[in-house]
Amino acid sequence: MNELKDTFKHQGLRRALVKELRVKGIRDDEVLKAIEKVPRHYFFDNALLEHAYQDKAFPIGAGQTISQPYTVAYQTQLLQVDPGLKVLEIGTGSGYQTCILLEMGARVYTIERQKLLFDKTKLFLPEMGYRAHFFYGDGYLGLPRFAPFDRILVTAGAPYVPEDLLKQLVVGGILVIPVGEGAVQDMKVYTKVADNQFNIKSMGAFKFVPMLSEKAR
Ligand code: SAH
Repeated sequence: MNELKDTFKHQGLRRALVKELRVKGIRDDEVLKAIEKVPRHYFFDNALLEHAYQDKAFPIGAGQTISQPYTVAYQTQLLQVDPGLKVLEIGTGSGYQTCILLEMGARVYTIERQKLLFDKTKLFLPEMGYRAHFFYGDGYLGLPRFAPFDRILVTAGAPYVPEDLLKQLVVGGILVIPVGEGAVQDMKVYTKVADNQFNIKSMGAFKFVPMLSEKAR
């Protein structure tokens, strides 16, 4: 694991990344502030450090990736996170997105189906001073015991929108989920306007690793 050192150089690279994201259309200042704060290079092996502040996805082990900063920023912007909101994240992965949500003041519940990543991230985030509730399990089912949630964020490409996640959203809550079975997903935003009633928007094409079922493990 890396020595956790955040130098002026890293901070400068983060400011440059934030500028780049602004140019690419990210407008939410709170999201950009969070990206400026979270040391993304902590999530990279030493050998790959130079890649940490490029706007690119990257392998994080167990065949998974840390999402591209633009995608993280875009999804977080759509989620409309306010301090104190209870947020469910599907696909903990490296925990980078989790840290962004925590920086924005959310109370985060996060589920990962790969044991290796779950074990690693659950230890690593507290080392950085980030506290979330970590769960090893199947994101399709959400977390009925802790529902309802103000926001739900899916960070893997889902073949369809899981009914359980829609159920676990408060009225007025928002689900952001990339939907599609092929190489490209459509970023969907579901706003729960009443029980069993949703306002649905499509927000463009993105590429995610697939959201897998327990059976496909
Ligand atoms: N938010 C992560 C992105 C990781 S990529 C980050 O910032 O690094 C998507 C993650 O979703 C992977 O770690 C993958 O293992 C996980 N995943 C895939 N299917 C899942 C499922 N059914 N339930 C929970 N996590 C799942």
